[in-house]
Amino acid sequence: MRAVVYRGRNDLRVETVPVPRIKNDELLVKVAVCGVCPTDIKKIQHGTVPPPRIFGHETAGTIVKIGARVKGFHTGDRVALHHHVPCFDCHACRHRAFAQCDQYKRTGITAGFVPAGGGYAEYVRVMSFVLPGVVAIPRRNTFVEGAMLEPVNTVLKAIDRLSLLPGDTVLVIGQGPIGLIFTRLLALRRVAVVACDLLAARLKLAREMGARRVFLAGEARVEENIDRITRGRGLDAAIVAVPSDEAVRKAQRLVRGGGKVLLFAHTLRGGAAALDFSAVCVDEKDLIGSYSSDSTLQRAVARSVFSRRLDVRRLVSHWFPLEQASEAIKLAGTPSALSLKVVVSCE
Ligand SMILES: [Zn+2]
Ligand SMILES: [Zn+2]
Repeated sequence: MRAVVYRGRNDLRVETVPVPRIKNDELLVKVAVCGVCPTDIKKIQHGTVPPPRIFGHETAGTIVKIGARVKGFHTGDRVALHHHVPCFDCHACRHRAFAQCDQYKRTGITAGFVPAGGGYAEYVRVMSFVLPGVVAIPRRNTFVEGAMLEPVNTVLKAIDRLSLLPGDTVLVIGQGPIGLIFTRLLALRRVAVVACDLLAARLKLAREMGARRVFLAGEARVEENIDRITRGRGLDAAIVAVPSDEAVRKAQRLVRGGGKVLLFAHTLRGGAAALDFSAVCVDEKDLIGSYSSDSTLQRAVARSVFSRRLDVRRLVSHWFPLEQASEAIKLAGTPSALSLKVVVSCE
């Protein structure tokens, strides 16, 4: 089969590799669509993990082969896959810190080499421990909607960490695909969203997704405006969906005492930044993060996406065939006024 193999920093090659062989407690899935995710882009562009690997973890496709001991699936089922599933039994899981569970950190989907998702290939092997994460795609929905369950899950998990009330005001910095999902899911919870981005085209979409106010990043008087919108109270929370330290400082200034600043895009290790820690200690402005997904939310995620209350199809701007996955990753890594979610299609 064809696969896009990561051979080193910024080095992706279309190669012919064997179709994965499955064990009797596993599935073989023919990939239809795989979303391009910023965390994979970073690994490829910064070379943070050793090659060779086949990336791609926002995967949907069709079951073509079922191990003899697997129950509850049929060949021909259209499914969305989840590459991480926690054990629900360890110390981290008992604290609901699923992303810190050792089993969760293992990747249970592969197209060969060290398991890394495998979605940029024609077929993937789905290991037994991630079978609880396999979700059927309803007949009326598309593969790309299935592929988007994973990123939507990460956003819903982060929103739950904010313990918001209806009527609260939240700033979402960054209106790329992830920021727009935040905007829509918050609006569905009757939270007033203030959305901010460098690109005007994205702000237009943010409005359509339910943002109450939109601002161009760097626009003068944003702070006064937020003051006015919240009647001087300050934001209940701010979500920083861009890897900017300045945005964190700004967010920290704009939230009210007892509010929360959530980091969603600061995934590169080794950075250091100056912050006024008395804002955390005295003003009780919690600085929190959220990473990856929570499989206990998967039903709620599937409901939002498949009902199209969150219509993820609107977020997809570019489709690339598998052979051009390298171009897809380049485009997704350099956002422009015209690009949003980029997907690789094997159909
Ligand atoms: Zn992802
Ligand atoms: Zn666990």
